[in-house]
Amino acid sequence: MSEFYLAIEPYVYIFVTGNEALLFNTLDSNSFLTDDLGVVRIVEILNSGDGLYVAKLSNEELESDTCKAFISFLRHNYMGDILPFELCKKKPVQLRPLLNIQTDINLNRNENKELEIPSILQYLTNISLILNESSNSQFSKITKQANFNPANKSLPVNEIDFTLVKNTLNRLKETLYYINLNGIEIFKYSKLFELISLLENYDAIKELHCNLKNLALNISKLENRALTNFHFSISISLNEFDRDEFLRTFSFLQTKKIVHDFKFLIENMEQYGKTEKLIAIYNIESYSILPFYNGGNLAFFKEMVFIDKDDILNDKKEMNQILANEAINSYFFGKIHIVPSGDVYISLNEAKIGNLFRIDISEIVYNEMNNEGIWFLTRTKISPCKNCIYCSLCPPISNYELSIGQFNLCSIINN
Ligand code: SF4
Repeated sequence: MSEFYLAIEPYVYIFVTGNEALLFNTLDSNSFLTDDLGVVRIVEILNSGDGLYVAKLSNEELESDTCKAFISFLRHNYMGDILPFELCKKKPVQLRPLLNIQTDINLNRNENKELEIPSILQYLTNISLILNESSNSQFSKITKQANFNPANKSLPVNEIDFTLVKNTLNRLKETLYYINLNGIEIFKYSKLFELISLLENYDAIKELHCNLKNLALNISKLENRALTNFHFSISISLNEFDRDEFLRTFSFLQTKKIVHDFKFLIENMEQYGKTEKLIAIYNIESYSILPFYNGGNLAFFKEMVFIDKDDILNDKKEMNQILANEAINSYFFGKIHIVPSGDVYISLNEAKIGNLFRIDISEIVYNEMNNEGIWFLTRTKISPCKNCIYCSLCPPISNYELSIGQFNLCSIINN
């Protein structure tokens, strides 16, 4: 009886769950999904530790129609091939892709088993400083979902301690990749310009997040300031859009040559249409459109945010991105928010993970790594995604899912 080896190319990602198997070609996004039990069994062998992307097939197995179709698909799409057994002296060796993310905190211990502080802090790359907040320190639903600042209705009452900010940033100077200034009304932060001067010495990307109204009202404060090192991210709520404020702000940003983008918050298709018109009329080049779930617009939200099979499979993904999805949440990993009380959050939708007036920043990072908190919240861990064949191909869980309290924002598995 003839036998063959079936070998899969290393750029093909394999996932098997329950009675289904998926092979995804990371070079061109071609995929093969099957629930044929014979083929699923072969894919299980390919994907096993012993299999190493190679499986031995009998002539009998090869004769089945489903197996023939499977192999024909693989060959046609350069995802794998078969080799006659007698032509191979040994089982062919295939370099199976492996996860190599250094998230083991024990790698950060020295010979005496003590934690290396500079080493653990390397994971913290992205910091958001909430400079001030209103008397109601609850974050709005909009901020929780889309990091979006609506125009404030009340004055800020609490502001972040500048010494705390300075000391914390100083600890992270070598590792920070991104620093975001945010708050209910950042232009009322008493140390704003000292902070901006301090940040001149940081190589990180610096973003200043405000809403259109607040910026329009504070242009005079900014006229004589050097701000070209900052990226301005300006939130615009369609419900509050004021044409004059927009034109004044737009002209200021262009005259000062400030790199910027506009974030439009929309709740329905009508607002989507209006946003498209504004973008065309004012020739806005840098923008994003953020849908907001207000509790009563699920149909709109399904249309704008929910993903389907084609969205998942047609989106080009690198192998390391897919493997990372199995281990960490790349949307949250390495990021924290610090609020005026000194409390530290990863997501504003979840409980705080420490307070900088009481615990050192290195201990907070250590605890997050050790406890595998939100930084490690992958779809492989939560229902219903963990039972879904696409769980490592889907984008990571974001603030939308945490805020709405539903993880499957998709048309694949309905609640
Ligand atoms: S159930 Fe979860 S993993 Fe599956 S497609 Fe939906 S969101 Fe993605």
